Amino acid sequence: MFLTKPGGTQYGAAVLAAGGEIFSAGQYSSFNHITNIHAEMAAIVMATMSGKPDIVALAVVSSSAVDQPERPCGICRQFILEHCQRIGHDILVCMGNRDTTTREFAGIAELLPAAWTATPYRA
Ligand SMILES: [Zn+2]
Repeated sequence: MFLTKPGGTQYGAAVLAAGGEIFSAGQYSSFNHITNIHAEMAAIVMATMSGKPDIVALAVVSSSAVDQPERPCGICRQFILEHCQRIGHDILVCMGNRDTTTREFAGIAELLPAAWTATPYRA
């Protein structure tokens, strides 16, 4: 995980592949805040690049989520949706606060209703 300033919010994500493998990642923050790589994206890419793109669940937490669970941002919701289109099924998104006392679970259609979609390219 790379932060642009000390004390910045730390985000972590992990994905569970259909075969039982778990891939975890943190965010990579850029100084311009435009080219950040979010933890959810990094975990999905790690699984995909490891030959395990068939993801069944994704968990996300952050150091600043105290009373409510951390939820994926809009960019990550779109990223997750597009990955779901590529693999042909929904991914269960598990959202938790930093000490895991509060949790929510949702599919991507619930997190991103009326999403913009395009025909996915499958390599
Ligand atoms: Zn995000």
